[in-house]
Formats: sequence, structure tokens, C-alpha cells
Amino acid sequence: MTLPGSPFLAYRGPDLFLDDVRLSGLVREHGSPLYVYSRRAMLAALAPYQKALKDRAHLICYAIKANSNLAVLQTFAQAGCGFDIVSAGELARVQAAGGDTSKVVFSGVGKTRAEMKLGIEAGVRCFNVESTAELEVLSEVASGLGRQARVSVRVNPDVDAGTHPYISTGLKGNKFGIAHEEALATYKRAASLPGLDVVGIDCHIGSQITEVAPYLDALDRVLDLVEAIEAAGVTIHHMDLGGGLGITYTDETPPAADVLIGQLLQRIDARGHGHREILFEPGRSLVGNAGVLLTEVLFLKPGEQKNFCVVDAAMNDLMRPALYEAYMGIVNAHQRADAAQQVWDVVGPVCESGDWLGRDRTLAVQAGDVLAVLSAGAYGMTMASNYNTRGRAAELMVDGDQVWVIRERETVSDLFRLEHRIA
Ligand SMILES: *Cc1c(COP(=O)(O)O)cnc(C)c1O
Repeated sequence: MTLPGSPFLAYRGPDLFLDDVRLSGLVREHGSPLYVYSRRAMLAALAPYQKALKDRAHLICYAIKANSNLAVLQTFAQAGCGFDIVSAGELARVQAAGGDTSKVVFSGVGKTRAEMKLGIEAGVRCFNVESTAELEVLSEVASGLGRQARVSVRVNPDVDAGTHPYISTGLKGNKFGIAHEEALATYKRAASLPGLDVVGIDCHIGSQITEVAPYLDALDRVLDLVEAIEAAGVTIHHMDLGGGLGITYTDETPPAADVLIGQLLQRIDARGHGHREILFEPGRSLVGNAGVLLTEVLFLKPGEQKNFCVVDAAMNDLMRPALYEAYMGIVNAHQRADAAQQVWDVVGPVCESGDWLGRDRTLAVQAGDVLAVLSAGAYGMTMASNYNTRGRAAELMVDGDQVWVIRERETVSDLFRLEHRIA
């Protein structure tokens, strides 16, 4: 049986291993549900980005929101990465993980003054600004500190990345970025503000993109803008082409990162922009297929119309199926020869009909088995909540046969630690 995505995840005999670690054994030792990530798989996903960019000035800024565990950030920091952040909380995580804040780009459509101040004080490399109003406020905050904030304007190239509407960000009518037609005026305004130092341009057109074409379309529009902006006397040092490269959840065939970047660089060079520093902000493509969510089967509930396989992980642990109707592979961590294959809806214990992890999955399964939800390294734990007063899962990192607990399981008392009864 072939599993999507990661060569680091494979059956050895009947047992599923991530690196050299048997996954069903981890649940016995650390409980369920349990997120497990492979450091090797993350670094292997980073390698094609590094390889494609090695001969030019570049910075790969891992988009923290995909998976923000400190050990994950530490892994990318040690590999030389910068970070794409969207909140002061994520900035604090970079610092706690030992990351270099001068390699941080600060994105997001709604930064507060307090966040701007923290970013400037931490010396972030650049603010990716998403509106004229934000430019004005950022200039004010920087001037108040006697500083200049380095900025790049996030432009909305109005290209269709062909993804789910909730994860597409590069179309008109979308809350992100500044419309292509307004970009030049916005740059002129930015250059005139005393607290700002214009250093770059950026775009990010969506997520789970599986084609090269939308990237090339967006790049062409960005290059048109760079030429117009520089003709108006404002220098653009770097171009940040965002993140968004897709991964294989089931049968998607996204381009390899080095193939995508190779084509982008070719276009950049052909249009005479080869001297500019290039930034990328990959999230999902660096971590998605490096992780699994392990969950124990509580009960089998066969029915007239549907068979339900009730597991102890739920939408609060992994929201993608409930939120986007996303498909995630689900396999038994120990393949059974002693149970018949049947079609199951894999559902969690939360009191919502939307609480399912997989529909119509063919599995040979018994109560007590450990299932692995695949491709769960991105937008899994970072979107987890405490709905139904459920503590969030523990997280482990593996590398070879080494195992580290990188986040402990939340206890019930953690969950209402900040609450008070009234008199
Ligand atoms: C979410 C996000 C990313 C990362 O997107 P992926 O699809 O995970 O690669 C990069 N840049 C910005 C501005 C984002 O909001």
C-alpha cells in the first residue's frame, strides 16, 4: 500500500512507521490523540526550496501558522530559515524557539499598534502591509519610537489560484492585499511617509495550490508593478512571492518546490529582474506531510445506512475536514488480517454532525485499534480548540528512532485555569 506524500511514512510488515518509530507503540506510551511529526521529513521538504534558491540572494520564511510548535520553529531556524508571522504571539514564538527576528516578515491584515511596536523593537526584517490605513498607522508608530519600519506592500494580483474559496486569497473581492490598480499610488504614499522605509513587494495568492500557472500569472503582475513603481522613483529590493504550494492529500499532483521555483526564476531572469532578492513564505508544503494525527478507535457502530467508526480525536483536534470538507487519508497503524474491510465514516465524540474526520473510508478495523490521519502536520494542531472541554492533544517529534515530547497533553485543570466563579 502506498501512502500519500512522505517517504518517511511506510509500513514495515503490518506496522506503520514514521522514520524508525512504530506509531501504534507511541499511543500506548503517550496516549491518544497524538500528533507526531518527523524532523527528517520537514528538512527533506525544505531541501528543494534551498536547492532551487542556492545561487541567489534569498530568504525562506516558514509560515508559522501552519505548525507553530517551538521544536518545529527551532528545526527551521537551525536550517537557516526566517519566518512569516501574523501576530505578536507568533513573534514571541520565534524568540522562544531561538529564531532570528531579523529574518522575520510580519504579515496580516489587522496588526494592532501594540504588535507593530513589538515588531519594530524586535527588528523584524519587514512588515507586509495590506492597506493604506495600515501604512499611516505603522509610520506613526515607528516615528513615535524614533525609528523607520521597513515595509513591503502586499499586492493582490487578482489571479485565481483554483483552490477552495476559504483558502484563496489572490482574487478581487478578497480582504487581503491592495488591489493591483491602487498599488502604484500606495507605494508613492508609503515612500512619502516619514516612519517608513520601502524595501519590497509581496503577494500571496492562496493555499493548497497545485499548478504552476497561477504563480506565473501573479509573478507577471508583480513584475509589471515593480517596473511601474521603480519608474516612479521608489526602489524595490526584494520580491516576496508568498507561500501556498499544495501537498498530496490523496491524488493531487502539485509541482515539486524546485520545479516551481525554477520556472519562476526563469521568468524573473527573462524579464531582467534577476538581481533582486527573492523571498518565499511556505507553510503547508514544509510540514503537512511530515506529520500524522494518531487516534484510538473507541467503538464500532455499524448501521443500516452508514457504519460509524467512533474515534477519540475530533474536530477540535483537527478542524480541516469540518471546516473545508477536506479529505485526509486515514489508515490503520497496524494492518489487520483478522477483520474484514468495510466502509466506515470515521467520526469523533463532539456534539456536531460536522464532527467527522473521514467519510466512506474502507478500513479493516476493530475497537482499540490506532488509526493514523495522514498529512496532518499543517493546520492541524494550530487550529485545535478546546470545544466540548477537551484538552488538546500532545505532540511528539521523531528523528530516526529518537522521540521527543514537544508539547504535553493539556489537562482538564489547564482548561479552566483562567476562569472564575462569581460571588
Ligand atoms: C498562510 C500564509 C502563508 C503560508 O501558506 P501555505 O499555504 O501554508 O504555504 C504564507 N504567507 C501568508 C501571508 C499567509 O497568510
